[in-house]
Amino acid sequence: MEREHELSFADVLAARDLLAGHLPATPMWSYPALDAVTGATVYVKHENVQPVGAFKVRGGLTLLATMAPAQRARGLITYSTGNHALSLAYACAVYGAPCTVVMPAAAGAEKVRAVRALGATAVLYGADMAAAQERAEQLAADDGRHLVSPGDTPALLAGVGTTYLEILEARPDLDAVVVPVGSGTGAAAAGLVAAKLAPGCRVVAVQSSAAPAAHDSWRAGACVRRPNRTAVDGLATGRGFTLPQQLMRAGLADFRLVSDTQIFEAQRLLASHAHTLAEGAGAAALAAVLADPDGFAGQRIAVVCTGGNASAAEIAALGSGAEPVRRAPGRQNP
Ligand SMILES: *Cc1c(COP(=O)(O)O)cnc(C)c1O
Repeated sequence: MEREHELSFADVLAARDLLAGHLPATPMWSYPALDAVTGATVYVKHENVQPVGAFKVRGGLTLLATMAPAQRARGLITYSTGNHALSLAYACAVYGAPCTVVMPAAAGAEKVRAVRALGATAVLYGADMAAAQERAEQLAADDGRHLVSPGDTPALLAGVGTTYLEILEARPDLDAVVVPVGSGTGAAAAGLVAAKLAPGCRVVAVQSSAAPAAHDSWRAGACVRRPNRTAVDGLATGRGFTLPQQLMRAGLADFRLVSDTQIFEAQRLLASHAHTLAEGAGAAALAAVLADPDGFAGQRIAVVCTGGNASAAEIAALGSGAEPVRRAPGRQNP
């Protein structure tokens, strides 16, 4: 059990080899107009251009690559309403493995459609993610499918860690890398990679103040539950996850909170100043930089645009300047 909760830099290097035939490195650009607004040199790491529109696909493909063929053949099951579902469905399609995703009954029609389009089975169940998780655990126990925790699965962290190999090999001189957090897989892996490749680079995590479970868990030094009231899908989680929290404890220089409104303003700025369509979660890192102009002034900072799966309502709101409509509470992601 203990062993299962370990993850090393070598695992991230191995994940890069496993991903080599599947995903090219993503671009990272800075935008002078954005630098002028932030007062810093900001490098935007474009995970929004990944095949499912988010960095999580690195984790899904790494997981499938490390599973035994017989285990893959029995199928995988997970719970999610968001990009984790798409990542796993995509990876299962690549490896020909059956995939089931349990989503809360109120899950967005767009996400359900996308999961099914990738050939996965979407089971709509329960009022919230906790209910969906229970259902997934039950189904896995019934028929021997491999249950995938969105946060506590080492191969997912190893895979998403390759993002930070790319960032820090390209820019070992960065002062900081800012990472949006839901379950914390990305930020945990970022800390691990930075410690090896760029010890002078601070890893700063950020979550929405309307769903602060990971932030509060990090501050408390123990996994806690918190209400999830954010409209930002990728950051919406109601609890801390053990493995990412363990790694974040050692690897983060700081953990910030920003409001949904600040995230939305950053999302608009990415559209207007960096010709980039980000979903809310993909703009949260920039929001943290904008929220602390003095703290980041004059520095070289990577902000990870973790995803581009903006909903139709978000895109409409970007054009109108109004804030996107808040989601039903059941629609949270892991
Ligand atoms: C999942 C997700 C996050 C949060 O990542 P974790 O590894 O769960 O902390 C951030 N942004 C996007 C777009 C996501 O899909």
